[in-house]
Amino acid sequence: MTDASLAAAIGCLPEHDPDSLPVELARRVIAQLVTPVGGAERVHLNAALGRVLAADLLSPIDVPASDNAAMDGYAVRSSDLAAEGPTRLRVAGSAFAGRPCRDGPATGEAVRIMTGAVMPAGCDTVVPQELVSVVGDEIEVPAGQSAGQHRRLRGEDLGAGGAALRAGRRLSPADIGLIASLGQAEVQVRRRLRVAFFSTGDELRSIGEPLAPGEVYDSNRYTLHGMLARLGVDAIDMGVVRDDPAALEAAVRSASQDADAIISSGGVSVGEADFTREVLGRLGEVAFWRIAMRPGRPLAFGRIGAAAYFGLPGNPVAVMISFYFFARDALLQMMGATPTLTPLLRATACTDIRKRRGRTEYQRGILGVGPDGAMQVQLTGNQGSGVLRSMSEANCIVVLPHDRADVKAGEAVDCLAFEGLI
Ligand code: AMP
Ligand code: MG
Repeated sequence: MTDASLAAAIGCLPEHDPDSLPVELARRVIAQLVTPVGGAERVHLNAALGRVLAADLLSPIDVPASDNAAMDGYAVRSSDLAAEGPTRLRVAGSAFAGRPCRDGPATGEAVRIMTGAVMPAGCDTVVPQELVSVVGDEIEVPAGQSAGQHRRLRGEDLGAGGAALRAGRRLSPADIGLIASLGQAEVQVRRRLRVAFFSTGDELRSIGEPLAPGEVYDSNRYTLHGMLARLGVDAIDMGVVRDDPAALEAAVRSASQDADAIISSGGVSVGEADFTREVLGRLGEVAFWRIAMRPGRPLAFGRIGAAAYFGLPGNPVAVMISFYFFARDALLQMMGATPTLTPLLRATACTDIRKRRGRTEYQRGILGVGPDGAMQVQLTGNQGSGVLRSMSEANCIVVLPHDRADVKAGEAVDCLAFEGLI
């Protein structure tokens, strides 16, 4: 977290209804206040997936390391080729990937070459084999070849000392392959973010315990655990905290000493916010918002000691939506990751969707391909904010922006696909 005050960041927001803060404004305040944590470590490439690069990764070598052939064919000197009409050249040897030709050919000679093989000394051009006619130990090259064709130049992909990847990159399988191609076994990454999380509520039972009337199993703890695991943070599971000021205070105090970020679920809705607000107000600086969104709405955000605090709503779907649209980007920012665009897919709504203007609505949907081959999306039935089953059935969230009104079947909507996110 920066040292800037939360109150000052909120004070800079454009005019808004305090009872209905637009999603974008809340996201803006959060983004202003969280900062990357310090500390880095070296890890083996096999442990680097999803980690954030701590410094620019400079290539120690030229890639490719030498000029080489981009096609199977014959390496020639372009100066040997006649400007008009075919040219006959004697085949004086061969070059394979990993087995270069020792000596370059003499003037008037060509070398049989395979893709990836080092260009023989003196040769600058590759003539693809399908263009060439072989006549005994000679080839006939047709006119019209251009000097330098089908040859990859040394350092063309990356020069020695150039940045192969920039600091802040969350490493993908392709990135890890790229690092391996530079001959590096280890990579310098930021330390893992430590995120403590707990559920609140007297009605919650942990799995394995019997349920009394009115009680429910604590599912948020598992949802949060899964979502945090996908981000690659060190998740510290603090279990269930009772609706009791002393218990909440003890949990938050200990979490703030241990973790870079604290996530709680429940206890921020009207009726429960009062004691939460009182406890957190004593321990740090926390704003209690009512966001213009559905599902979701109550959200607390602030700082407890050096830790960022996210108080998510308790409803099982609201907790997920609030995590994805408020906590996830902030945690990535704290991990030191360079912000990347999460692409939204445009799809045709299969049915009418009721939407109230003046709030962002997130509907659970199933994206598929329609009879015309274009993307279409269907809602997953009951959209109640406690109905986790429809979240489980969904493969996307239909994001209906603040100013949009009802959607008619056949209109286009934006969808956030779960693949790669959830
Ligand atoms: P709250 O935000 O604490 O008022 O909770 C809103 C609703 O979400 C209530 O019906 C709670 O029982 C439910 N809820 C809160 N926390 C959890 C949880 N960890 N697991 C499952 N349901 C929860
Ligand atoms: Mg509660």
